[in-house]
Amino acid sequence: MGMPSEHQIQVERGDITRQTLDAIVNAANSSLLGGGGVDGAIHRAAGPSLLAECREIRRTTYPNGLPTGEAVATGAGDLPCRWVIHTVGPDRRAGQTDPKLLASCFDSSLAEAVRVGARSMAFPAVSAGVYAWPVEQVAEIAVRAVRSSPLMSDIELVRFVLFDEIVLGAFQSALAS
Ligand code: ADP
Repeated sequence: MGMPSEHQIQVERGDITRQTLDAIVNAANSSLLGGGGVDGAIHRAAGPSLLAECREIRRTTYPNGLPTGEAVATGAGDLPCRWVIHTVGPDRRAGQTDPKLLASCFDSSLAEAVRVGARSMAFPAVSAGVYAWPVEQVAEIAVRAVRSSPLMSDIELVRFVLFDEIVLGAFQSALAS
């Protein structure tokens, strides 16, 4: 099995809703009912079927919301990918400062991708926006989690899609180290 090779992990600047990989990851909140930032962008681009699926998951599986650090897949509505994998990052403003919680978002999302059969996926900078984690720390934790995951033997490509130049730079540095 061995460590994943570097070509399996890419970083680029862009809007994750435009990605045509098998799956994109949403930095959701526990309610799964939409929010601001990348969550709002994904719901707007996917259309109403995404919210309907999220409501159904709340009803059947997570009546109290998706716990921090976990992930769940839905279809992708009008998006050009096949699945959206919703994960809930730790909120630093609420005192959630344990790096394991953030690493768990990446681990859980990879596991969910493998479960549904996705072979390629894009991640945003989970918790680096409203949830107020320092972007360097997010980048380091994200790259380490993906690099060290045994699940990468079942994934052909992970692409970090970063919205602005500063976040892109942090991920480029993490990938280079
Ligand atoms: P969180 O609540 O987990 O911090 P946010 O959505 O507030 O999530 O921010 C996470 C990151 O996603 C931020 O770096 C933000 O700039 C970025 N982002 C916002 N919109 C998009 C988008 N359309 N594509 C990719 N990244 C995005």
